[in-house]
Amino acid sequence: MEFAGKSALVTGAAGGIGTTLVRRLRAAGAQVAVADRLTDGIEAEAHLPGDLLDPTYADALPQRAADALGGLDIVVNNAGVITRGAVTETSDQDWSLSLGVNVEAPFRICRAAIPIMAANGGGAIVNTASCWGLRPGPNHAVYCMTKAAIASLTQCMGMDHAHQGIRINAVCPNEVNTPMLRSGFAKRGFDPDTAVAKLGQTVPLGRIAEPEDIADVILFLASDASRYVCGALLEVNGGKPVS
Ligand code: NAD
Repeated sequence: MEFAGKSALVTGAAGGIGTTLVRRLRAAGAQVAVADRLTDGIEAEAHLPGDLLDPTYADALPQRAADALGGLDIVVNNAGVITRGAVTETSDQDWSLSLGVNVEAPFRICRAAIPIMAANGGGAIVNTASCWGLRPGPNHAVYCMTKAAIASLTQCMGMDHAHQGIRINAVCPNEVNTPMLRSGFAKRGFDPDTAVAKLGQTVPLGRIAEPEDIADVILFLASDASRYVCGALLEVNGGKPVS
């Protein structure tokens, strides 16, 4: 996939999937603006650190990326947080954090990016949902709900903005070997390496996803190779659907 001359904004750029995604986009020729709470040390054409819970920051990100890169062709809403537990174990803070990062920030970024892309003849937006946004798993009620919300928003935006030449899709990973997953194991007292290996035995392909497995699908959805894919929720699960 070829991204020469393309400009991309990636949120969650310092995370497990984000780091790999930025590296692969740049290796394929894209100019990349990276957004995360801290972006020090990430190789990129523009650094836009900040907190996605700040509406002013999220609203401004697409224009700032376009100004820094001289255009905006691709947006990847990859940042995310996971809160665990049933509804009865969910605090007000968990609720605001989950909705704020996983739903409100991508909404704000898409709302600001779409007119910029439309004025330029189009573009591609890739949101990061989850298998759990399609079929929920146990004890992560609010996380699952936020991923269902971003999946639904993606389908709606995919329909509503296709006529402007903007394709909006979502990637829906199952388990991925990143800090998000590993910190959850550590918090519950498991050794992350052992837990990841054991979890891999439950996947038909024999292992859970590595960040590269997800980043490559995001690159596909951002590229012209997926030119007729619009409003899709692309499940990437190694053959292990959440039942
Ligand atoms: P990660 O925790 O490694 O990275 C997430 C990044 O988002 C971090 O760098 C973090 O700093 C950033 N972020 C969080 N809150 C922020 C805020 N308020 N402001 C700015 N940045 C913020 O996680 P990951 O596994 O790389 O996850 C990437 C995406 O993939 C997320 O949307 C996640 O929900 C989704 N996902 C992950 C898995 C998995 O098993 N790891 C499975 C399905 C979906």
